[in-house]
Amino acid sequence: MDPFVLVGGGLTTARAAKALRTEGYDGDLVVVTSEPHRPYERPPLSKDYLRGEAERDAVFPLDEAWYTEHDVAVRTGETVVGLDVADHALTLSDGAALTYAKLLLAPGSTPRTLAVPGSDLGGVHYLRTIDDADRISARLLEASLEGVGRLVVIGDGWIGLEVAASARTLGLDVTVVGRGAHPLGRVLGPEMSDFYASVHTEHEVRLVRGATVTALEGADGRVTAVVLSDGTRLGADVVVAGIGAAPNIGLAEAAGLDLRDAALGGGVVVDGTLATSHPDVFAGGDIASIPSPHYGRPLRVEHWAIAQETGKHAGRAMLGAADPYDKLPYFYSDQYDVGMEYTGWVDVQAGYDDVVVSGDTAEREFVAFWRVDGRVVAGMAVNVWEQMGRVEELIRSGRQVPTAELEAFTG
Ligand code: NAP
Repeated sequence: MDPFVLVGGGLTTARAAKALRTEGYDGDLVVVTSEPHRPYERPPLSKDYLRGEAERDAVFPLDEAWYTEHDVAVRTGETVVGLDVADHALTLSDGAALTYAKLLLAPGSTPRTLAVPGSDLGGVHYLRTIDDADRISARLLEASLEGVGRLVVIGDGWIGLEVAASARTLGLDVTVVGRGAHPLGRVLGPEMSDFYASVHTEHEVRLVRGATVTALEGADGRVTAVVLSDGTRLGADVVVAGIGAAPNIGLAEAAGLDLRDAALGGGVVVDGTLATSHPDVFAGGDIASIPSPHYGRPLRVEHWAIAQETGKHAGRAMLGAADPYDKLPYFYSDQYDVGMEYTGWVDVQAGYDDVVVSGDTAEREFVAFWRVDGRVVAGMAVNVWEQMGRVEELIRSGRQVPTAELEAFTG
């Protein structure tokens, strides 16, 4: 029989490979990744690994020996460039063909890039891969040893703020340029954006809001400044742009698999077993648009837990498990001494009733709840641990939860 093939070098394929072997699949199993490394996870890349505090081995969920012992072939440095679902065949970048019995597509996302003059100068970075993290880390550590290097971060999403916190922790002079009024505002809304803004301001990070970057200036091929539309010039020795990522749906699209409408988050349509519109092709991680029984609509989420959980689920589903995927979205962030866990989902642009806080934001120990029609749709715990199960219960209950009950949550 043809092998099961897992495409992608992130956590999804590692978890799927493990699930397949744990569930007793003893056929041929191949992982194809365009990177030179076996599958790895990304959260450390903007946190301890970036600061040089974590070993490289810490980013790999499975060590080299696991793949050998479990007879899993990892084909690194190979990109899948063609997919013929009728023939169950893949074409690799070197022209080789690879047929499969079942396929998991988990190719992740590609960072959006700046499109302004000077974007190609040396010292301008994006963070997605271990190799990106190594380059940025070397530059930040070098700058911190030299005294105060100036980092300008473009984009005030998760990469932007986590990189800013890491660089500030290393002692760099840090400015974050956001185009909106609220850092992280698109995900958290203004209330919790203000909380994160205060954390960064207290650590002497300059937050520039409502700004448009019009050019990057340089000397001798290296960046020296970020120029804004109002004429402001921000001196920079290093620039990191974290301006979002686009899911890698090109292969699925060219193969004719169903895609989700952009208005519903885009991505590749899958059913509850993570099967695409072709029953032998599954999708997981960033590209998968998965029906959410709780929210009554498909969700496409770009976070670590989706990679982890869809990998496990897809592995089982490839062996015939039919239970529908029903995990609530979950992610976490560590910035300075502020550790956070978040579960649930809220469309901030569509609006919500309010954010109710239990605990003390000034003390940085609290849980925040987003409500829609009086029901909790998402919760975020800051420096309050092991409460995600209770938050999830409130969300799943679907009941209207009184303000006083939420305020009393942390006791
Ligand atoms: P992100 O969290 O989606 O944030 C993108 C940021 O870039 C937003 O602030 C956005 O502003 C801004 N932006 C978009 N286009 C821009 C432009 N042309 N010029 C200036 N700013 C622009 O994406 P990310 O930070 O790049 O991270 C990439 C992916 O990795 C995301 O999916 C993220 O969820 C994931 N990630 C997760 C974690 C975590 O879970 N802790 C950590 C790091 C990365 P607007 O809001 O105004 O659009």
